[in-house]
Amino acid sequence: IRTTMNELNSLCELGSGTCGHVYKMIHQPTGFEMAVKQMCISGIVEENKRIIMDLDVVAKSHNCKYIVKCLGYFISESDVWICMELMSMCFDKLLKLNKGPIPENILGKLTVSILQALNYLKEKHSIIHRDIKPSNILIDENGDIKLCDFGISGNLINSKALSRNNTGCAGYLSPERIDYDPNNPVYDIRADVWSLGITLVELATGEYPYRNCSSEFEVMTCILSSEPPVLIGDQFSEMFKSFISSCLKKDVSKRPKYNVLLKHEFVKYYSETEVDVKSWLRSVLEKKNKPQTDSKPIVIEVEEKQN
Ligand code: ADP
Ligand code: MG
Repeated sequence: IRTTMNELNSLCELGSGTCGHVYKMIHQPTGFEMAVKQMCISGIVEENKRIIMDLDVVAKSHNCKYIVKCLGYFISESDVWICMELMSMCFDKLLKLNKGPIPENILGKLTVSILQALNYLKEKHSIIHRDIKPSNILIDENGDIKLCDFGISGNLINSKALSRNNTGCAGYLSPERIDYDPNNPVYDIRADVWSLGITLVELATGEYPYRNCSSEFEVMTCILSSEPPVLIGDQFSEMFKSFISSCLKKDVSKRPKYNVLLKHEFVKYYSETEVDVKSWLRSVLEKKNKPQTDSKPIVIEVEEKQN
């Protein structure tokens, strides 16, 4: 569809993050609904370059079913508006709604989708995502899981030229991105593999692994100095535990790349196994609409009038 901003009406806000707000909008003439992300143009040349790069990638990534589709964008004097396929929810919010760990079979499907998306970005567009975290993993009404937000992704080819890049959510940064060596400024796609590992541990246990740290600095110190998080417990399969521990190798040279990870038993199993993600999603979303059973009824006490 060819359209203008004037034909779009905002229905509600879907969420907000570091870069701006995301709105649910309707294209008035057709009734077509979409998600529109508003990003401020900062006036900082570097930042604007990044936004344009972001737009280029999302626009090019039409033919990967594991990536949230970009439908087009508008640029005004102060903002960029990116129109995207409307998704149901992100995993950050889903985890909170669910009030507990996400089942392993759902995470199996998530892993397959995200690995395919990351591998596609690398192979077809030479891109590292650099901001893998639960809020950038979205799910649609059909239960299909997709990756979004290339806000800070850059071309691998140009990554040598990039100076220390301290964007990206600190909590999901890999050790080599924290302990960055200016004489050897290249880090590769395996930084995203680490972030995926942290994301999976958080979703599988229901808790962010470095939650006891009181500041971003402490989190980064902890990532560097302590043993990587591990999945413990009989509720997790051995193949899931093994997949996570390969993602969370602190030494980047020991951390596998996508070609190896895609052949891992856990990934192979969930590529071939059907999981009813749609029904699971529906059951979690129902929790949102149901009144809480443990909440007490509100009693309104009326003071008697004393005459
Ligand atoms: P962040 O990823 O840092 O949380 P964003 O600005 O990228 O911030 O996104 C804010 C929120 O908007 C996300 O957490 C997600 O819930 C929601 N959102 C983003 N894109 C979409 C989309 N295409 N469809 C539905 N919701 C979305
Ligand atoms: Mg995001």
